[in-house]
Amino acid sequence: SVRDSSRFPRARLLSLNRTLADDWLPQLDLGQEGDQVRQQAIDVMAGKTVLAREPRSDAQDLPDKNGFAPWSLCYAGHQFGSFAGQLGDGRAISILSTPATPEVAAKTGFRAIELQLKGAGRTPYSRFADGLAVLRSSIREYLGAEAVAALGVPTSRALALVHLPDVKVRRERMENAAIVTRVAGSWIRIGSFEQQAYRGETDSLRALSYYVAREVFALGDVNSAGTAASRSLSLNVLREVARRNALMVAGWQSYGFCHGVINTDNVAINGSTIDYGPYAFMDIFDPSHICNHSDDLGRYKFSNQPTMVLFAVSKLGEALSELIGAEVELAEREADGAGFAEVSEGWAGEGEGSDDMERWRERGLQEVEKVKNDFVQIFRDEYERLMRLRLGLTQGEDDDFQLVSRWLDLLAQSELDFTSSHRLLSQFSSTSDPSFERFLSAFLPASAPTNSRSDWTGWFESYEARLAREGEAACTGRRERMNAVNPRFCLRQWVLEETIRKCDREPDGPGGGIEQLERVLAMSLNPFEAYGEPDVAQGETGEGACPTKEEQ
Ligand code: AMP
Ligand code: MG
Ligand code: MG
Repeated sequence: SVRDSSRFPRARLLSLNRTLADDWLPQLDLGQEGDQVRQQAIDVMAGKTVLAREPRSDAQDLPDKNGFAPWSLCYAGHQFGSFAGQLGDGRAISILSTPATPEVAAKTGFRAIELQLKGAGRTPYSRFADGLAVLRSSIREYLGAEAVAALGVPTSRALALVHLPDVKVRRERMENAAIVTRVAGSWIRIGSFEQQAYRGETDSLRALSYYVAREVFALGDVNSAGTAASRSLSLNVLREVARRNALMVAGWQSYGFCHGVINTDNVAINGSTIDYGPYAFMDIFDPSHICNHSDDLGRYKFSNQPTMVLFAVSKLGEALSELIGAEVELAEREADGAGFAEVSEGWAGEGEGSDDMERWRERGLQEVEKVKNDFVQIFRDEYERLMRLRLGLTQGEDDDFQLVSRWLDLLAQSELDFTSSHRLLSQFSSTSDPSFERFLSAFLPASAPTNSRSDWTGWFESYEARLAREGEAACTGRRERMNAVNPRFCLRQWVLEETIRKCDREPDGPGGGIEQLERVLAMSLNPFEAYGEPDVAQGETGEGACPTKEEQ
């Protein structure tokens, strides 16, 4: 729905992510450093006006006779494990899909970049709600997406944050309203497929599957009529969704990112982290950490995340099972000389409960099981790869998983900070170095159990032996290498809280919210810089840019 422009007369740009604008969307020419952002661009990002476009040939069929109208997607989903029926973009409106530049396509694998406003008003899927977003959650999404991106974890991005001073949103109290312009290669979710399956719209389901194969994954083998030339296209779509999401959640686990609501409508088919709600980066390492206070049973606790993403992938598999089964059967029959049209006709003509459908579903589910096994393997390999990098190891050894597990167990046992401990590890030199005692003491807080000293010493001895096996070449430059993958800055809850408070109450002037937003954005985008880092082995304890709450 295009919003009535008189409703929000004022819109204030609080922040523009120029790094992203330059990297991903140079074609929009949103302005270089120091340039004023064009008022027209701000109006677009405030949902006041739509982008001018060349009229489309099918313009007469569209709500906007110029041939362009914003859109919202219908989807369903499993929320906290139960099917919730139809949901949809209740407060998200896509405003533009533009081809990715060759550089962006090479870096991200995205073919298009889709801009979406979150919080710009009601849509056909708003149900009973207002379609608006509060400044608090908008700031969280704006910074969170950029922090995750900077760690190299696949994610949607955030382009701009606009405050609507005349709009107040009723939540637990009245709050400031804001709009985030967010950006992704595709906003199609696993729930988008579930919606078609739920309605029993098999043709739409197939069309969606082939659309994703062609437009999102460029899997090839889809001819211009949108029919599959490859006989296992939907299975390949499922495989690709599984592969990308396994890589994504491996990134979450290696960097202590808790998503908080891994409902199937919040899992993107292209394997980007989406829907930044109650997310949190962990401080003290605790595998059972729950960041969503409405998640009473801990379904989405940190250690459950891989299983929960796999659950979502399996729901996609179920939604696609008949189609996958039909395509697999087709491939076999074709080997016997039957044509595509024959099975395709059967697919279109038969309804729920038919013998064909039952047979295809069963066949499809067998394939889904294999994809689930692949997911587990891809996740494990990627997680081990990332944790090896974080520990400064360049070659793989069979026992590395034990070394990583013991490291994590000790962090949990000593209640140490996840981010800081990894960063500090780069300063390890040798257990026989005179500075080792001082270095070790950083891993032994007063609260640590009494056996911690010997446990940690034992671990550092194994680590040292393991580093020695890496050889001379790998050891030189280890510290720099580790500092390039272990962030110094972490977007902690207190940093977010403070930024939100300032933006809400005192946005302007030196030390105000807008200034802090810029600073936190810059640090989120560059988390590996040293930011006044102390040399612990030299006895320095200086407070840096990223203290934990206790150090505050
Ligand atoms: P979420 O838990 O944020 O993924 O939201 C679940 C569903 O509720 C999605 O379909 C949202 O679009 C919808 N929703 C959440 N908040 C609002 C709102 N303020 N207005 C309209 N729809 C909303
Ligand atoms: Mg959502
Ligand atoms: Mg949400």
